Amino acid sequence: MSHYPHLLAPLDLGHVVLPNRVLMGSMHTNLEETKDWNRVAAFYAARARGGVALMVTGGMAPNREGGVFPGAAGLFTPADIANHRVVTDRVHDEGGRIAMQILHAGRYAYGPDCVAPSAIKSPISPFPPKELDEAGIEKQIADIATAAARAREAGYDGVEVMGSEGYFLNEFLVTRTNRRTDRWGGSLENRMRLPLDVVRRVRQAVGQDFILIYRISLLDLVPEGQTWDEVVTLAKAVEEAGASILNTGIGWHEARVPTIATSVPRRAFAWVTKKLMGEVAIPVITSNRINTPDVAEAVLAEGCADMVSMARPFLADPDFVRKAAEGRAEEIAPCIACNQACLDHTFAGKISTCLVNPRACFETELVLEPTAAPKCIAVVGAGPAGLAAALALDRRGHTVTLFERGARLGGQLNLARQVPGKEEFHGLVAWFETMVAKCGIALRLSTEATPDMLSDFDAVVVATGVRPRDPQIPGQGAANVLSYIDVLTGAPVGARAVIVGAGGIGFDVAEFLTQTGQSPTLHLHDWLAEWGVTDPETARGGLVEPKPEAPARAVTLLQRKPEKPGRNLGRTTGWIHRAALQAKGVEMIGGVNYEAVEPGGLRVSSGPGREDPRLIPADTIVLCAGQESDRTLAERLAARGCVVHVIGGADVAAELDAKRAIDQGTRLAATL
Ligand code: NAP
Ligand code: SF4
Repeated sequence: MSHYPHLLAPLDLGHVVLPNRVLMGSMHTNLEETKDWNRVAAFYAARARGGVALMVTGGMAPNREGGVFPGAAGLFTPADIANHRVVTDRVHDEGGRIAMQILHAGRYAYGPDCVAPSAIKSPISPFPPKELDEAGIEKQIADIATAAARAREAGYDGVEVMGSEGYFLNEFLVTRTNRRTDRWGGSLENRMRLPLDVVRRVRQAVGQDFILIYRISLLDLVPEGQTWDEVVTLAKAVEEAGASILNTGIGWHEARVPTIATSVPRRAFAWVTKKLMGEVAIPVITSNRINTPDVAEAVLAEGCADMVSMARPFLADPDFVRKAAEGRAEEIAPCIACNQACLDHTFAGKISTCLVNPRACFETELVLEPTAAPKCIAVVGAGPAGLAAALALDRRGHTVTLFERGARLGGQLNLARQVPGKEEFHGLVAWFETMVAKCGIALRLSTEATPDMLSDFDAVVVATGVRPRDPQIPGQGAANVLSYIDVLTGAPVGARAVIVGAGGIGFDVAEFLTQTGQSPTLHLHDWLAEWGVTDPETARGGLVEPKPEAPARAVTLLQRKPEKPGRNLGRTTGWIHRAALQAKGVEMIGGVNYEAVEPGGLRVSSGPGREDPRLIPADTIVLCAGQESDRTLAERLAARGCVVHVIGGADVAAELDAKRAIDQGTRLAATL
């Protein structure tokens, strides 16, 4: 008997039976924009091989004005159809199924030609949209239906009509973005007219034996969002209009509530989908922060949905479903919901990949072939860089010994996982432990590798990481000064703390020091209150006044750069860290000079002229002033003439993060 009877149960859609309840949700990876269709096909084929029941592509524009950005991929010409065929054929060869998402971005389209129900600019785009007239609306509907017909011609098994997240269809549904007084605005019937016409016309265009998923916004999380009654009325009408499945969207892109970041509790919104169960007869899909088979199974077993959508977990591990079915769930590389290599890349115009799995979207480029010349290789340092290198070298057939000075593997990941909101790092460390234990790597914990110990290896990979930078502040040797390592490993901190350095670690330490009791990430009720999310039956859009818990202590976060602290944090997550700390009353000050540590606190001044010297009162001062490479071993080996490969923080400490470390370790292993 499977551990996942609900997850692995087939789903009968009438003309087709899906083999299990797992949908790979749409992700915009920027792969299609490369126009390297073999590479696009390799990405989806790997996921099809891994057993997912149905995949949805990244959003394809139905026309130029609806593209997320100028040049966004779509299905515009017969040549496009032939290109998409390469993908659908490869997926079908692997026994998989794939639907194309049709995404009309409306006022979120990042370009001057964007269109919308009303000429109201979105807060997250510089481009005011043009208000559509009757003919313009008809053109958009016709273009979406044409895109659906082309998708069928290109061999897709279905389409997903994107009706959530604040995009074009969603914009018609609420007065926030629809102030029309004609038949497309005003009453609910009028506001629903466009999404329903789209579904009807798409169904007409594709016939009955084709999957039509409608992504419905169940919780807008913006002022003037939909009421629950409106959502249910729409869901029933969408079913009536011809949809075969309802997928869930949570939150508009302009919402000030995080919906998929790592600090969002797992399955945080399954309760919303559960409210829709029983209102429609077609299958309902739930999504958002579901990243393990156990969580997915529980959500289905509790009747929250008929099917589960996971997107980023399929970047982390294409074989998610197969491993779950084979009883190897602990081998599934976990998505830690960091966004660092996926969404942050997408928004920077780069190809998405995955912090945990740098091969995602690079399947044709980063290949770990079995080696023709197996070697004995020592890897020193079991942080992310060393672990990634060791696992990839082992996979290629080398004999690997992994040395780690500490008593457990994980390196800096063991610090990260102490931070409230970063609990997913526990799972990443556990996965590394499992994989190292299951493969042939000889692990030498609590062992300081010396040049003598390494002399017999064919190659040495040095991944000895970083040590904290010394900011050399006069008086910093005092007992009231701690390093971030002391703090994150449990040193007592007073009621008033000043943090020196506002990089990723400074922010993490501020979150750690302001948190009282349990992390809200592990307590859905607290997290919903903190961000002001409630049952949409009681408040339009599901929004109420946020009620963050009182901070555990007063914290001041400092940096020398005369700019807003936190500017260099992750593109899609930085605002969440800043908002969370603001809610906890953390004072963030840029442009300071550190003059001296004094018994009552930290004396600082401002600007190049060292003006306005003042004491920031503090019981504890925490140094988070960045990192420097630990290259001691690499230098000793080089002095003996050994060839060493230096990776991760030991190579370059500046802006080191686990993404770069894992990527560099894997890429090195592919070449040895
Ligand atoms: P960091 O991001 O490089 O920040 C170092 C901080 O120390 C900066 O605020 C810097 O600002 C300050 N600083 C630098 N030299 C200093 C000096 N000599 N004296 C006093 N202050 C100094 O480093 P980090 O915070 O240690 O983080 C390390 C890496 O881990 C980061 O690159 C980050 O990407 C990664 N990380 C990421 C996350 C995440 O959420 N993605 C979280 C934690 C860590 P000023 O020079 O302006 O003073
Ligand atoms: Fe998940 Fe982070 Fe990988 Fe994105 S980069 S798929 S969020 S682990």
